[in-house]
Amino acid sequence: MRATAMRTIGLEEHFVTPELEGYGAGSASILQPEKWREASRRLLDITGERLAEMDAAGLDMQVLSLNSPGIQAETDPAVAVAQAAAVNDLLAGVVREHPERFAGFAALPLQDPQAAAKELDRSVTELGMRGALVNAHTQGRYLDDPQLRVVWERAEALDVPLYLHPANGVGTPHVIEGHPELVGPMWSWGTETASHFLRCVFGGVFDDFPGAKLLLGHMGEGLPYVMWRLDSRWEYHNHHGIELARGNPSEYLRHNLYITTSGVCSAPPLLCALLALGPDRILFGTDYPFEDMATATEFLASAPISEADRAKISHLNAEQLLGL
Ligand code: MN
Repeated sequence: MRATAMRTIGLEEHFVTPELEGYGAGSASILQPEKWREASRRLLDITGERLAEMDAAGLDMQVLSLNSPGIQAETDPAVAVAQAAAVNDLLAGVVREHPERFAGFAALPLQDPQAAAKELDRSVTELGMRGALVNAHTQGRYLDDPQLRVVWERAEALDVPLYLHPANGVGTPHVIEGHPELVGPMWSWGTETASHFLRCVFGGVFDDFPGAKLLLGHMGEGLPYVMWRLDSRWEYHNHHGIELARGNPSEYLRHNLYITTSGVCSAPPLLCALLALGPDRILFGTDYPFEDMATATEFLASAPISEADRAKISHLNAEQLLGL
């Protein structure tokens, strides 16, 4: 039984390969062991049980991405370059076999910025990827780093988004030291990822590349909720000599940010995001296999929003943003 007849495309849908599974050790350490075993089994199964579950949940298409932290956990840049090319080739093969059911976000070897820009170009123009998914920092380097401008330049020129997905931070913030239960998707991943986006805003990424597009999962990692306060406190407290070309921080949320519903099946934050960002900026995602697909599709099908907005979130925005 399909939960809905409306075409539904998920943008935060993870997989892994046996070769790259080891990079997930940091993520594994924050999950209950039996949950990690089950998630690992599902991550490795790209076209089997996953397709059956998609059918059952009414999920027509998954835009696949390598599970966090992926090759960004690799310390050797040359190895990262080779691993990214190999996994992007593999993903392109899966998409070629199931073009109606799968699309892909590339993995980028950001350890080598020039190579990452080239791999993004190859992935989009030769392999048909719809953008790239980046898992937080790369060996301590964030996306506002001047060396990574070459990647933003290529993304803007190709008109594809970068999906900024969480991973474990470089260290544990002092305020949650001694509280390992707060490290991970429940709390620290969200605050770190929202901070990472704000680094890009205040670090001038979107002033240098006004057409750049950044996707955040998890209903925007809390940012839609604090939009007004960002502007009011920026105006009141700014004495750091930083100029924003667009004036207010919220303008970057309106112009450069897209969010997905991944991992959030709750109406209040969805309604907040709709009011704050508008219906053209919100796309659907499940966060498979860490969340249940059917729970996510049923949430979207029954959320108290207009049918026009539901269609945009379900598939129209993804078709436009990703060219699907
Ligand atoms: Mn995820």
